[in-house]
Amino acid sequence: MIRKLEEIANNLSNRNIAVRVTAQAERMIKKHHPWVFENSIALQSHSGDAGDLAVIFDSKRKFLAAGLYDPHSIIRIRILQFQKPKNIDRDWYCERIKLSLEKRNQLQGQNTNGYRLIHGENDGFPGLVIDRYGEVLVIKVYTASWIPHLRSVVDCLKELVPYSAIIFRVSRKIQEFIEEKYGLSDGMLLNGDFQQETLIFKENGISFEVDPMHGHKTGFYLDQRENRALVEQLSSGKNVLNVFAYNGGFSLYAAKGGAKSVTSVDINRYALDSAVRNFNLNQQQETIRMCQHQTVEADAFTYLMKAREEGQLYDMVILDPPMFAHNEQQISLAIKKYRQLTRLGVEVLAPGGILVQASCSSRVSSSDFYKSVLSELSLTGRRIEELYRTGYALDHPVNFPEGEYLKCIFVRVC
Ligand code: SAH
Repeated sequence: MIRKLEEIANNLSNRNIAVRVTAQAERMIKKHHPWVFENSIALQSHSGDAGDLAVIFDSKRKFLAAGLYDPHSIIRIRILQFQKPKNIDRDWYCERIKLSLEKRNQLQGQNTNGYRLIHGENDGFPGLVIDRYGEVLVIKVYTASWIPHLRSVVDCLKELVPYSAIIFRVSRKIQEFIEEKYGLSDGMLLNGDFQQETLIFKENGISFEVDPMHGHKTGFYLDQRENRALVEQLSSGKNVLNVFAYNGGFSLYAAKGGAKSVTSVDINRYALDSAVRNFNLNQQQETIRMCQHQTVEADAFTYLMKAREEGQLYDMVILDPPMFAHNEQQISLAIKKYRQLTRLGVEVLAPGGILVQASCSSRVSSSDFYKSVLSELSLTGRRIEELYRTGYALDHPVNFPEGEYLKCIFVRVC
């Protein structure tokens, strides 16, 4: 595969595209916003291919920024370098990766060997994510413009991170295109050796099985680690309902924290089977062994309505749904769904129970999300005590507004 990456890299033109942008885009770039949209480009020296370097100049012809060009995306340029011109080459990528590794040093010693190594724009790699599961690395691209640069990135990883395999993942939207144009397919092995289907890694001392070639994201929702740790702290003796459970991330932490029972609900049977295997993997931990875990394959809304009708009550309800707003038009419907979930969740929550509700829709702002959860709760007439609103883990830094996608609120409802 490395040879293929090399070939793709060699085909890249070394003629940079010179670009001028609208005044508004110029202002955004000066604030270090990493995206230049198609309709913000005022002038362009020549048409380019995905991965060409675009150099953006201001109205006085001074260097503003340089980034990766993608003619197939409405985000036409993803900025790598602001203010000062620098050579964007292998050394440059290596320096950036080193910085990201340093930022994550603190995670060492936490019994966690799976975490995000590069968090896209927020780590200076717009449109690229690298997750680490022990010795297996997973690179996920959200734009074709990274493909000609993968060779350099893989080279740096070789130098900086001991790995046994690198797996390639592609955002669903561009999978077909990447396959056609470059012959690279989602889930393929880029380098090293990976024969099995799944791997096992540790998060806060809990073992999880992950399918890095086919699983959601890069196989696991690494972004919920700290919220899960809070759930662990709050679970002792509780009957916990984990809705949208996927492979049981929150469920395992609740069990570890001493939950009496955990019910994992998801519409996807394969995810729930993996949750069961994850419980089996951790039987040496007494609290997990003692916890009664059951899985229910169901639509979340239907399950919650049925549980309400049956008068079932839980001491903790976790609601971590998939993204509800995929575009601007879907925002109000998304908020409606969040409110509906809050309402349904609280209706199966015992007095004094804890509601944990998350949103990963970047288009729904944190304040709108919190407001809708809290106002829906206030309509129930029950007394509420807000426990936490959580921010970002250190391996998921945020440094531009659109990067703020995950929010989670913990509320005790009396
Ligand atoms: N909480 C999980 C991540 C959830 S991802 C974790 O900590 O890892 C969202 C999950 O919701 C996916 O597993 C998906 O299968 C499930 N899902 C999507 N729509 C659903 C629905 N209508 N009802 C139940 N589950 C659903």
